[in-house]
This record gives sequence, C-alpha cells and structure tokens, in this order.
Amino acid sequence: MAQKTTAESKQQKLDEIKAQILANKVCPELADSATQLVFGDGPADAKIVFIGEAPGKNEDLQGIPFVGAAGKFLNEMLGTINLKREDIYITNIVKYRPPNNRDPLPDEKAAFLPYLQAQLDAIQPLLVITLGRHSMNCFLPDLQISQIHGEPKRIKVQFIGDTVTKLVILPLFHPAAALYNGGMRQTLIDDFAKIPTIINMIETANTITS
Ligand code: URA
Repeated sequence: MAQKTTAESKQQKLDEIKAQILANKVCPELADSATQLVFGDGPADAKIVFIGEAPGKNEDLQGIPFVGAAGKFLNEMLGTINLKREDIYITNIVKYRPPNNRDPLPDEKAAFLPYLQAQLDAIQPLLVITLGRHSMNCFLPDLQISQIHGEPKRIKVQFIGDTVTKLVILPLFHPAAALYNGGMRQTLIDDFAKIPTIINMIETANTITS
C-alpha cells in the first residue's frame, strides 16, 4: 500500500485527538450546553496555527472556529499578507461554546490544554499565533499582551506527560477586541504585516540548524 503523505498522517493524528476529547468527555457540562465540539479547521500541515479563546454562537452552530465577525476581520487581515483562510490552521483553547459567551473558566482552559498541545505536536507548525490575552497566557503566563504583542517568542511547552513541544509564539490582539477599537485595529494590522518576515526568519534559522 502507498505510504501516507505527511499531511495525511498529521490529519490522522488530529482525527484521533478529536475522538479522544469526545471519548474522555472533557468538560461535560460545557459539552451539554453547546451544540457541538468545535475542534479546529484548516490543513493539517499548515505552517501557521492561530489560537483563539473559545467558540461563539456562529462557531457553535457551524462547528468551525472564527466564522463570525471576528473571523471575517481575520480573513481580511490574512488577505493583507497574501494568505487565505485555507492556508492556515485555526483552533481555540476551549472547544465548546461557554454559555452566553462568558469567559472560559481556568479549569476549562486547563482541561483542554493537553489536547491543544497534542494538536500542535501533530501539526508541528513553524509559527503559533495566539489571539488575545487568554490564548497568550496559556503559553506565556507572566507577560502582558500590551507589552509584547507582535514580538515572537521561542518557548517549550509540556502540558502532557513527558512530551515537550518547541514552539515559536507570536502574541497578537484578539480581532474581536480590535474590530471596533481604531487604535488596536491599526496595531493588529501592523503586527500582521510582520508575519511574512517572521516566517522567513524561522525558515532560515531551521535551515542553518538542521
Ligand atoms: N472568538 C474566538 O476566540 N474564537 C472563535 O472561534 C470565535 C471568536
């Protein structure tokens, strides 16, 4: 039989992680109040993974992250750097919609973190872009988004067992927060403009070290 491509084997791992969330009944109360699991969307071999906070109403109904107003704005910003939504993988920390769009609770975020790490471990992206302070704080707990947005950071994460995942994190403001705030909107657009250079830098560094 033909060997699986990298994309196929990564997608298989993602499918397994999704099945584990359901089998392990992660956050059963959230699962009960939500319409469905919103696991993630995009190619399993994407170079860039975006991470938001939790699904909202539209995401809950469609089962896909960032399909509402924040998602439309995100797609616009991807366009400014010649990327399409189909070029990136996108997910959230918490994978069920919290009731009435309340902030996810610390134990809900903690419950989903091992699965988020497993997703990143499967995809092995060059760059992880966190959207908003909740997402950033999962990886960089002691830093302020107002001080480090737009600055890439190299980190190691260990949310599951002995598995250590090396990542480059780029913290950005959340598009929903920036949508109606002129100053933050321009900052987000300016930070987005840095993404191609950051990707080039990581690719060059990987060529030198590999
Ligand atoms: N905001 C998020 O953080 N995630 C979504 O999927 C939609 C809006």
